[in-house]
Amino acid sequence: MKFDTLIIGGGLAGLTCGIRLQKNGVRCAIISTGQSALHFSSGSFDLLNGLSDGTKVDNPVAAAGKVGSNHPYTKLGEHFAYYAREAKQQLLECGIEVNGDAKHNHFRITPMGTLKPTWLTFSDFTPLPSADDMAGRKILVANIAGFLDFNTKFVADSFEKQGAECRIASINLPELERLRISPTEMRSTNIARVLENEKVLEALIAELAGHTAGFDTVALPAVFGLSSATPAKKLKEALDIPVWLIPTMPPSVPGIRAQQQLRRSFEELGGVYMLGDTVVKADFQGNRVQAVYSVNHGDISFVAENFVLASGSYFSNGLVARSNSVIEPVFGCDVDFTPGRDSWYDKSFFNKQNYMTFGVATDEKLRASIGGDTQQNLFAAGSVLSGSNTIHEGCGAGISMLTALYVADNLIKG
Ligand SMILES: Cc1cc2nc3c(=O)[nH]c(=O)nc-3n(C[C@H](O)[C@H](O)[C@H](O)COP(=O)(O)OP(=O)(O)OC[C@H]3O[C@@H](n4cnc5c(N)ncnc54)[C@H](O)[C@@H]3O)c2cc1C
Repeated sequence: MKFDTLIIGGGLAGLTCGIRLQKNGVRCAIISTGQSALHFSSGSFDLLNGLSDGTKVDNPVAAAGKVGSNHPYTKLGEHFAYYAREAKQQLLECGIEVNGDAKHNHFRITPMGTLKPTWLTFSDFTPLPSADDMAGRKILVANIAGFLDFNTKFVADSFEKQGAECRIASINLPELERLRISPTEMRSTNIARVLENEKVLEALIAELAGHTAGFDTVALPAVFGLSSATPAKKLKEALDIPVWLIPTMPPSVPGIRAQQQLRRSFEELGGVYMLGDTVVKADFQGNRVQAVYSVNHGDISFVAENFVLASGSYFSNGLVARSNSVIEPVFGCDVDFTPGRDSWYDKSFFNKQNYMTFGVATDEKLRASIGGDTQQNLFAAGSVLSGSNTIHEGCGAGISMLTALYVADNLIKG
């Protein structure tokens, strides 16, 4: 099989890159093992919330020049603001409704009820301009009876610590009661499927309306809208007070919807998406990749002009940690990591963890190297890259989207 560009990994980075390439007439295929980090998304996309020394960032565009020399944003240089704009625009064009601005982080509510700075938030969720926005509110924290992945007590306690007054309510409907026959069925995605039925959603709204008197806000788990944003919109329109949807424990309903919307956009543009297959090895000629091979296709090779490695970090097996090394398992790319496993971790779980910065080494165009030799047609994008600490710096989605667009443009320019 022959394509212009073959992308390994179909998460946020692989799909962002593929969509940009297809839009510019580059014929792409994406091979992807399975679910991506989007299935676990917290409901927002981070661009840059802090620097590696712990300095907090309010304006990512202004602070991007202060990240480390090996940070992927440093390789984008002066184009950082441009790619941040393009990334938001591409999400919107794919039908993924997000709010936010690269020059000013806002706050969104976490599954624990705390506030966290971020760049773009799914329209399902409520972006708060400042951390003081909770004070003085009277909030009804309502849950679907039997749904354990939304902890009302944690959320209410946390809201109250921030100055709100809360009461907890439990909502039940016969249609949802059926899911409870098997408690393992009470997952966010299953509830979201039931609530896609208009009549069930209307019944839930009517039930909720009976509880909201005396409150100025109602907080609910984000279990509305697996295939479109419509149920969340209807819910918000129907109630006479603001509705805050709070991210649940995984799986993430809006995250899965975003993954599906990106895939749909890629395929509508003519891209080929092969889900459930894993790229395992490659053929090389000099400093070029000739072809790759996958589990499902055995000896049948995938030949392409260019290859993009968007296989994610440890979580997706894009990087694999051995006892004393970290490897990239498909091509055997050079990986930046420090020798001595002791230097990888800080014993305090909440401190900065060095292993988070490890990843595939690249040149200024994000081309990977093997044995010190830059591979002319092998690019890397997203969380497989070295140089950033996505948790400590709060830059996960930004790295994935901005580097994917940058790689796509490098390929389009030839
Ligand atoms: C659990 C989790 C939650 C996160 N939540 C957020 C968040 O809410 N906000 C935020 O800003 N950032 C978040 N991040 C950071 C995250 O890394 C990025 O936001 C981003 O989604 C990562 O995208 P990616 O495409 O680089 O990697 P991934 O999403 O990991 O996608 C990589 C894909 O490659 C596939 N793959 C791997 N190896 C192969 C192979 N050999 N052959 C074929 N396919 C392969 C995998 O199956 C996977 O689908 C989260 C990260 C994790 C791990």
